[in-house]
Amino acid sequence: QKQIQLVSRPNGTPVESDFHYKEIDVPRPDQGQVLVKTLYLSVDPYMRGRMSDAKSYVEPFKLNEALAGGVVGEIVDSQSEHFKKGDFVVGMLPWQEYSLASENAVRAIDPDVAPISTHLSILGMTGLTAYFGLLDIGQPKEGETVVVSGAAGAVGSAVGQIAKIKGARVVGIAGSDEKVNYLKETLGFDEAINYKTGNIQESLEAACPDGIDVYFENVGGEIGDAALSLLNKHARVPVCGAISSYNKTEEDLGPRVQSRLIKTSALMKGFVVNDYNDRFKEGASDLGKWLSEGKLQYEETITEGLDNVTEAFLGLFEGKNLGKQLVKVAEP
Ligand code: NDP
Repeated sequence: QKQIQLVSRPNGTPVESDFHYKEIDVPRPDQGQVLVKTLYLSVDPYMRGRMSDAKSYVEPFKLNEALAGGVVGEIVDSQSEHFKKGDFVVGMLPWQEYSLASENAVRAIDPDVAPISTHLSILGMTGLTAYFGLLDIGQPKEGETVVVSGAAGAVGSAVGQIAKIKGARVVGIAGSDEKVNYLKETLGFDEAINYKTGNIQESLEAACPDGIDVYFENVGGEIGDAALSLLNKHARVPVCGAISSYNKTEEDLGPRVQSRLIKTSALMKGFVVNDYNDRFKEGASDLGKWLSEGKLQYEETITEGLDNVTEAFLGLFEGKNLGKQLVKVAEP
């Protein structure tokens, strides 16, 4: 079987030669372990951070070892009382076709409730990130203006829809006209802006005549600066990500927002989804309910084949995905 390893730490934007596909044996489970066949794996922007050796909230990936992330798979061999062959599970597993996992490291998922891939998208970490960042930190109220960047991506598209459920006026920022149309026509955003055409400051001002009450930050850089300049009194800014800086080789300076935060008594707060570990059940339950009621939609961009994982990952930094970028590795 094949395993994808990180063989050099990227300098700036990762390139294919930073990765290596290695042939390894399929392992056999010991007592308390299961063998998981990878069906879908998740590629995520945060993985870029783990490819560097800088200290962060998750350990760096080790060189010449497998990359790893969210995986949905099927149990094909079990030495655990809790799982049997044919069960579907989700967990953090290596990028390879078959993985050993301790019975405590994977969680069973029900394929009858929703497609199994959704446990890596709207019902998984992505949905939970949107849910807790927006509702716990952003706290949107009816009639308020919520702006989200990276709006047509996995987290952003969920943020905008949850803000709509809460009665807010929602403005999305994304990188193509096709994405802008998707946000307005399919997801029902009130306004959407293509940041690659025109002046972002002017477009955002025009889209937010009453200013911004919640800015959900996914990208940072000039887009973030423009949004922060329009904050209203008591605005809230959940800082989820800053993808525009992840491939920069020098520290990204700015924004100079201190005076705006003071003038508006605004709250800007960073978070990681794991801050909410003990409330995941609550989030998953609401997301599942909204999904079944048709109040929440989701998109998945699915790349086929383990051989294309790195290409799918790199595509995140070029905006090639609509909704959650996944890789389908095998059929159940
Ligand atoms: P997305 O599905 O949003 O994919 C990334 C998107 O970012 C691309 O599609 C692209 O869309 C946009 N993008 C890429 N480069 C730039 C750039 N230079 N400037 C502006 N936009 C850019 O990924 P996720 O939804 O998984 O993640 C979104 C953000 O949330 C990331 O910053 C990620 O790190 C963060 N995150 C944080 C978590 C946490 O716990 N704090 C958990 C999960 C994600 P476009 O075409 O619009 O440019």
